[in-house]
This record gives sequence, structure tokens and C-alpha cells, in this order.
Amino acid sequence: MGKPAKSQPQPQPEPEPETKSQRVDPPDVEQLGRSSWTLLHSIAASYPDKPDDTTQNDMKQFVTLFGKFYPCWFCAEDFNKYVEKNKPEVTDSDSFGKWLCRAHNDVNKKLGKPEFDCNLWKQRWKDGWDN
Ligand SMILES: Cc1cc2nc3c(=O)[nH]c(=O)nc-3n(C[C@H](O)[C@H](O)[C@H](O)COP(=O)(O)OP(=O)(O)OC[C@H]3O[C@@H](n4cnc5c(N)ncnc54)[C@H](O)[C@@H]3O)c2cc1C
Repeated sequence: MGKPAKSQPQPQPEPEPETKSQRVDPPDVEQLGRSSWTLLHSIAASYPDKPDDTTQNDMKQFVTLFGKFYPCWFCAEDFNKYVEKNKPEVTDSDSFGKWLCRAHNDVNKKLGKPEFDCNLWKQRWKDGWDN
């Protein structure tokens, strides 16, 4: 038995599991969106019921900066327009959660997706459905 010809592809060793998990492609607009909404609604769920003035101002700033740095330019453009027309309601957790729900519904409408009932935002993002 001679050695295989040089031009023949050589079997490659299986990558280590750790290397496999690192070779994941960057997120597309959908993956990015899903993760971002999860983060945003979860932030609303942990936002205080009685935030002080500093916290309210910080949250307004956070929403503005989120729109400024959101890494999908056409998404950010529309989101920023929405925020300009509909100022974030940050006086308490429920107001902020509902404001965010309406902002999300604005995108749902644009994409032809069903709108979410904003009265149920807490079940989805804070309390769960069995409470
Ligand atoms: C700020 C922002 C702007 C975006 N703009 C665009 C855009 O211009 N074009 C584009 O193609 N994509 C955009 N996206 C992504 C898009 O909104 C979706 O995230 C993506 O299409 C994946 O959709 P999905 O069906 O998996 O569910 P998602 O819309 O990501 O929703 C995730 C989950 O949130 C819950 N949910 C749905 N609606 C609401 C709501 N109103 N309130 C509370 N919970 C809700 C549902 O349980 C749903 O499964 C944007 C995302 C963000 C964060």
C-alpha cells in the first residue's frame, strides 16, 4: 500500500467542541431583533415601580442611546422616529413596559406580524402565565 497522492484531500480531525461553538456566524436582523426585544422587555420587567428622577432620566437616555447604536441601520432609523414622536414613558415599570410593547407593535405592524396585547406584557416578560 503506497501513500495517497498529494493532491487528494486529507481527512481533517473533528474540531474540538469549543472551537465549533466559536465558529457561529454573526446574527442576522431577525436574530438580533429577537435578542434585543428580549433584553428590552426584560429591562422593563426589572424597572422600578417608583423610579427616582435620576433613574427616569437614565432610562430616557438609555432608549435614545439604544436607538443611536442599534446595529441595524434601517431598524434604528424607524425606531428613532418612533421615539421622537412617542416619548418614552418611564414613570414606572408598567408604563415603561406598555410603551415598549407599543414600540414593538409598531415594528410588528410594519413587518405584517400580529400585534401583541399590551395588557399581557407582564405575563410574557415578568410574571409568567400561571400566576
Ligand atoms: C428596535 C428594533 C427595531 C426593529 N426594526 C426592524 C425593522 O425595521 N425591520 C426588520 O425586518 N426587523 C426589525 N426588527 C426585528 C424584528 O422586530 C423581530 O425581532 C424579528 O423579525 C424576529 O421576529 P420574531 O417573530 O422572532 O419575534 P420578535 O418580534 O423578535 O418578538 C419576540 C417575542 O416577543 C413577544 N412579543 C411580540 N410582540 C410583542 C410586543 N409588542 N410586546 C411585548 N412582547 C412582544 C413574542 O412573544 C415574541 O415571540 C427590529 C428589532 C428591534 C429591537
